[in-house]
Amino acid sequence: MYNKIVVIGCGNVGMSFCYALLNQNTYVNELVLIDTNEKRLEGEIMDLNHCLAYSPTKINISLGSYSDCKDAKIVIIAAGANQNIGETRMDLIHKNSKIFESIVHNVVNNDFKGIFLVATNPLDIMTYLTYKYANLPYNRILGTGTTLDTARLRFIISEKIGVSPKDIQAYVMGEHGDSEFIPWSNANIALKSLSSYLTNEDKLKIEEDVRNSAYEIIKRKGSTYYGIGMCLVRITNAILGDENVILSVSAYDKENGIYISTPAIVNSSGVKEKIYVPFNDEEKEKIKNSINVIKDAINNL
Ligand code: NAD
Repeated sequence: MYNKIVVIGCGNVGMSFCYALLNQNTYVNELVLIDTNEKRLEGEIMDLNHCLAYSPTKINISLGSYSDCKDAKIVIIAAGANQNIGETRMDLIHKNSKIFESIVHNVVNNDFKGIFLVATNPLDIMTYLTYKYANLPYNRILGTGTTLDTARLRFIISEKIGVSPKDIQAYVMGEHGDSEFIPWSNANIALKSLSSYLTNEDKLKIEEDVRNSAYEIIKRKGSTYYGIGMCLVRITNAILGDENVILSVSAYDKENGIYISTPAIVNSSGVKEKIYVPFNDEEKEKIKNSINVIKDAINNL
């Protein structure tokens, strides 16, 4: 099986994905990069190729064009504007929705048969627009969703209670944005509820820290990219390896006609199945609020 990936938008996020990929064992054989700034991209490709002598993996890396999408297994989109200090992800909606129309049409017009993986913010809206513009089955379009927020949550809990983030079964759900929330009633370590380890006060503080993580990073270094690069590698490997792993990606919600994050089974078909989480009353209100935030943003486009 020969696996080709196309990355559209090779700024900090796109390149963090590429660099993380080169540092791991992966199913990817070929990496094709597209960006409007081709001069910088040439430099990035030279730099990436110089990793290969010491990389655990052999990947062909090149500067490409949309015709490369024809036989690509995954097209990752990380093109577009980034949050400035004080800006929310939703503030990017107009800038980024414009560029997505042409990007997605260029991909599908080249007979793309693979899966779209979206990282650009506002994430759930950009993933929805990809679905609309591509006119492909919804399972073949997914966004990174709250995979990054979930990684942040697990790290913060692990620091607090001294258990590896890999062994914490807790998720951030809803919008990848300010209305996201943590369904604590379903958060566990092994088979034990996290409520045995955390007070209500702890939970409130953790939820706030997770929600503010991006703002805090942006305040200090301008933007966030290593974490999302790693999430993109995890999702890419889940798809190419047909892994059936559960990740909190942004997936299509048929009932509401939007994209939103829930834990979902990810494999070579994209999103195989969403996991329906039993919420308590408070969590039901929170997911409803998140759905409304996304719906309103789509209606105002
Ligand atoms: P960046 O400015 O470093 O890179 C964006 C790149 O897109 C640039 O290289 C630019 O030349 C390219 N680009 C712009 N228009 C293009 C087009 N039409 N075709 C091809 N390339 C084009 O920004 P970044 O830090 O890499 O962030 C990219 C996006 O990812 C932003 O929207 C950001 O908010 C988002 N992001 C998402 C998450 C997440 O959890 N999903 C995390 C961090 C950042």
